Amino acid sequence: MTGLEVMLNPLVRYAPTLAIRHLSVYVRGDEVWCQGFSEPDAGSDLAALRCRADRTRSGLRINGQKVWASFSASSSRCLLLARTGQPGDGNRGLSMILVDMSRPGVVMVPTVAATGRDEFGELFFDDVEVDLENVVGEIGQGWEIAMYLLQWERGMYAWQRQGFLHSQLMEIVAATRPANRAGSGERVGRAYLALNRLRFSAFHTVNLLSAGKMPAETISVDKLLLANAEQLVFDLVRDLLPEKLVLDDEPAARQLRSDFLFSRAASVYGGTAEIQRNIIAERILRLPRDAR
Ligand SMILES: Cc1cc2nc3c(=O)[nH]c(=O)nc-3n(C[C@H](O)[C@H](O)[C@H](O)COP(=O)(O)OP(=O)(O)OC[C@H]3O[C@@H](n4cnc5c(N)ncnc54)[C@H](O)[C@@H]3O)c2cc1C
Repeated sequence: MTGLEVMLNPLVRYAPTLAIRHLSVYVRGDEVWCQGFSEPDAGSDLAALRCRADRTRSGLRINGQKVWASFSASSSRCLLLARTGQPGDGNRGLSMILVDMSRPGVVMVPTVAATGRDEFGELFFDDVEVDLENVVGEIGQGWEIAMYLLQWERGMYAWQRQGFLHSQLMEIVAATRPANRAGSGERVGRAYLALNRLRFSAFHTVNLLSAGKMPAETISVDKLLLANAEQLVFDLVRDLLPEKLVLDDEPAARQLRSDFLFSRAASVYGGTAEIQRNIIAERILRLPRDAR
């Protein structure tokens, strides 16, 4: 289950009281939480988000829409990024709120992906009232917290995922060995190298995070390495086991098909590959910004 490794630390750091109250059920696995950041017109340009949380006498009233919230179909709570400032404030004036999904006015509409995975959802907030004590950190601190959270999403998730990808690669190698198609050795080697680049980079990142240090923009390197390794591993399935991917209908083949399709999303979720390259170009290599 993903999510805990992403949301745990931001909550402990910015909202210890909420963490004490709610984290034990999440850590026990009795609850699933989702992350409500993206909107129909605010994905890469997250600072353009429009979901509002307006002050009332006793708390906040939330109105707006979120998309692609992973695991929202089974979530009890949503870590929501909403606008508490003015529409033109960009990344200033955003706040993070832990919203109980059973509050009146919260509606979740499942999104079924081409993979057949149905854990995503669109979230609609229609005059949803929440108490101020559900604000994570301070009002207006949402962007800082979201950027902190994304380091865990891009770093911890990459570390966890490389373990899964290593076991997948071993299974693919075992399945392709009898066929021994031309060029398969070189292709497997390329995927293995990509996976090990990811492993070493993510290992370094996880060590930094666990020492309380922030990898900042270098985390974009891990995100790119993850997408590259994941897609190279599953390209092997497409190229070396095409009949399994396309024709077989036994459960293991169906799972492989779903994992292959999901691997295409690795260069989208958590920030697209293009956005990571922009970050690396501008903030690490100090190249001039694109004319926009
Ligand atoms: C499997 C999956 C799970 C997800 N889970 C969640 C979740 O749990 N919570 C959540 O909030 N969101 C989630 N998302 C949404 C994800 O964060 C967004 O899809 C992602 O940030 C891209 O935003 P977008 O889809 O709106 O694409 P857009 O931002 O519209 O981008 C479209 C294309 O334009 C490119 N582009 C955009 N701006 C630039 C630029 N400045 N320079 C160069 N290229 C650019 C992009 O790289 C992309 O190729 C998930 C997405 C997927 C696929």
